[in-house]
Amino acid sequence: VVPISIPAKPIETFGENRSEEMPTTSSANGAAHISGNNQNLLADDLPSLLEHNGPPPPVNTINGSAGNARNHINDSEPIFHLRSRTAAASTPNYESLDYEVCENTLFQEEQRRRLRERFSLRKDVIRWIIFIQIGIITALIACTIDIIIEELSELKYNFLKESVADNVPLSDATGRDLVIPFLYWILLSILPVAFGAAMVTYIEPITAGSGIPQVKSYLNGVKIPRIVRIKTLAVKAIGVITSVVGGLAGGKEGPMIHAGAVVAAGISQGKSTTFVKDFRVFKAFRDDHEKRDFVLGGGAAGVSAAFGAPIGGMLFSLEEAASFWNQNLIWRTLVASIISVFTLNIVLSAYHGLNDFTFTGLFNLGKFDQPLKFDYFELPIFMILGVTGGLLGAAWNSLNTKINNFRKRFIPWKFAKVIEAVVVAMLGVTLACLMIYFINDCRPLGNDPTIHPVQLFCEDNEYNAVAALWFQTPEATVRSLFHDPPGSHKILTLAMFTVVYYVLSCATFGLNVSLGVFIPTALVGAAWGRLLAMVTFYLFPEAEFLHPGKYALIGAAANLGGVLRMTISLSVILMETTGIESSFFFPLIIALISAKWVGDYFNEGIYDTQIQVNHVPMLPWEPLPQYKGLTAKEILSSPVVCIKLRDSAHYIYKVLKKCDHNGFPVVDNVIGDRRSEGRVCGIILRSQLIVILLKSLYVENKRFWLPETSIQTFRDVYPRYPSIKSVRKLDDKINYTVDLAMFMNPSPVRVNPHDSVPRIFQIFRALGLRHLLVINNENRIAGIITRRDFIYK
Ligand code: ATP
Repeated sequence: VVPISIPAKPIETFGENRSEEMPTTSSANGAAHISGNNQNLLADDLPSLLEHNGPPPPVNTINGSAGNARNHINDSEPIFHLRSRTAAASTPNYESLDYEVCENTLFQEEQRRRLRERFSLRKDVIRWIIFIQIGIITALIACTIDIIIEELSELKYNFLKESVADNVPLSDATGRDLVIPFLYWILLSILPVAFGAAMVTYIEPITAGSGIPQVKSYLNGVKIPRIVRIKTLAVKAIGVITSVVGGLAGGKEGPMIHAGAVVAAGISQGKSTTFVKDFRVFKAFRDDHEKRDFVLGGGAAGVSAAFGAPIGGMLFSLEEAASFWNQNLIWRTLVASIISVFTLNIVLSAYHGLNDFTFTGLFNLGKFDQPLKFDYFELPIFMILGVTGGLLGAAWNSLNTKINNFRKRFIPWKFAKVIEAVVVAMLGVTLACLMIYFINDCRPLGNDPTIHPVQLFCEDNEYNAVAALWFQTPEATVRSLFHDPPGSHKILTLAMFTVVYYVLSCATFGLNVSLGVFIPTALVGAAWGRLLAMVTFYLFPEAEFLHPGKYALIGAAANLGGVLRMTISLSVILMETTGIESSFFFPLIIALISAKWVGDYFNEGIYDTQIQVNHVPMLPWEPLPQYKGLTAKEILSSPVVCIKLRDSAHYIYKVLKKCDHNGFPVVDNVIGDRRSEGRVCGIILRSQLIVILLKSLYVENKRFWLPETSIQTFRDVYPRYPSIKSVRKLDDKINYTVDLAMFMNPSPVRVNPHDSVPRIFQIFRALGLRHLLVINNENRIAGIITRRDFIYK
């Protein structure tokens, strides 16, 4: 894991952080609230503080300056300080999800009631039903997207083929004229791309890209605003259709994962906040913890539908996306994946008029007729291909990051983002036309299984092999490279195609359009894999083991490994989609692992790179290296804004108004007004406090609300919790009191100031915590730790 360095300025986040649910960034309001010694660390010092190689200096020791500052604090007025005195203040303010279940009195009451009513068993059955529904609906959405893409692409490429036939003279003698087909091609590319890019940019920017980094961050516990809304799904679906039909170098598999995640989040909640419709079902699943598991199942169902690979889909979700899983979840995820593939198979087979249900997935790489064989002396060659994939993948990731950083700096305007997508689409068509125009690669008809063989400048009974590569969707081109017979292309054709597509895909990933990176990466790999086999065969014509399709497959695996850095799931997906023998798993895994090892030496996989570039506070599997050897007291924040077990409504209102933390320790045994020195008895979330104020759950009017208040009172406002702005000023209730005993989480995880950071990191991550309280031997609060403290201090 590469330590994260913090930028001097906040940068644009996944899409744009413009949700009303997101508080302002710390840097925006933090300065006004600096208290005590917090001023000592100036924002300008921060990058140098964080980028040094050793452990970060203790900025916040209990006995140090912050501790001294605490002694002078008068808690009668809430104290509010810079959310973090480190560079966290200059990063975009992503919030966390509450993966820790708040087992308060209301929750326990509900549990007891359910035990009496034997609801636990029913809840388990309902959970299975939801997973099955997720599989079916995700598959239906995948089918719809696929059918629309296929039909529109068919129309487009048929039209272009006819236009080529009508306008291009057949021999060189009369001169070559590609102008009119070129103009049509440009038009048919930029119209859909412009439409899709405008939808993404103006309606829902979070839908840009593949969606996998966003889903991955969500599953790790980071709240990505608007990621699982219906509007997001609609824009994503239209976005991916327009981009693929427009001919951009991208695919639909990443968006399918995102689509599955949205479907899962929607179905499992039994209500739509967008359409203000509550179906009054699945109420027990309305919290982040439950929703997370469904989202994982949805993501897996999406990948499975995309590749027709249920086991690969489940493994993909576990290997790439999930941060938490258990045995039951794996089972349910697998069932959702199988149901998804089965539904897709039935619908698409029926649509294509097949009666033997053989249409397994959207991403159809075609099955190899003959079992692929290999000799043991080929294993080093596969390894060399893996190393090549690792090098090319690492270079691709680094180039793509540079291009995206350039975009962020120099293309900030919305209309410019749309124009940029159009320019890249035009560039793709122009490069394709130049290749078709300048490379003379004619092959005899009948050999090639491509859907649109074009004669172009070739003789009768011949087709143009360069045009065949370009006049179809990228996915169909991967299929051709895997299955076309030897001798279907010139070496020059494939060499140029590899270079052009490598650059194009690099420029495309990061545009404001919905597109995945899997297909272009596989395509580039298949092209150079086949090319290497052709060149070697040219040099050593007696080497008959050099089957170009086999090497195209290994090249695709190596390139995917180099860019995505996944191994197990990719090999299973490739096996399931191409139907190769299980004995060929060995060469695939050799190529993938070599690619991953080599790539990891230089940088991270593309999804993790995107997460880092956007400064999403993702918790890695292990603590960052510079945290090793530290103790809790060196990373905690103190003084801590606390709330008394029985506190005044007015104080709570003021805390929520002036401070944007999301969790507050609940304390009793407070001497005077020094709350931050009280004894810990629980923790309460900002969202809970807002509901308490909104519903006036005060001690003074307890008899009115107590009978009808339950855990459901809080679930009803989930997931779009109101902001404190929706609570009107409490002038008339200035003396009202709130008793937090039944609302707070009475058993927050507590650690000691001397506990080691790697140890508490494991606790924090394994339990999916949002706040970790640090207490001293007398159970008095010593500090608080959140996910940002494990990343930015
Ligand atoms: P999250 O953003 O993960 O949802 P949060 O909003 O409660 O949680 P952060 O934004 O992560 O908290 O907190 C920023 C900094 O403020 C961190 O360094 C954290 O330790 C500190 N902090 C969090 N809660 C409190 C609090 N109640 N009192 C004082 N400092 C806090």
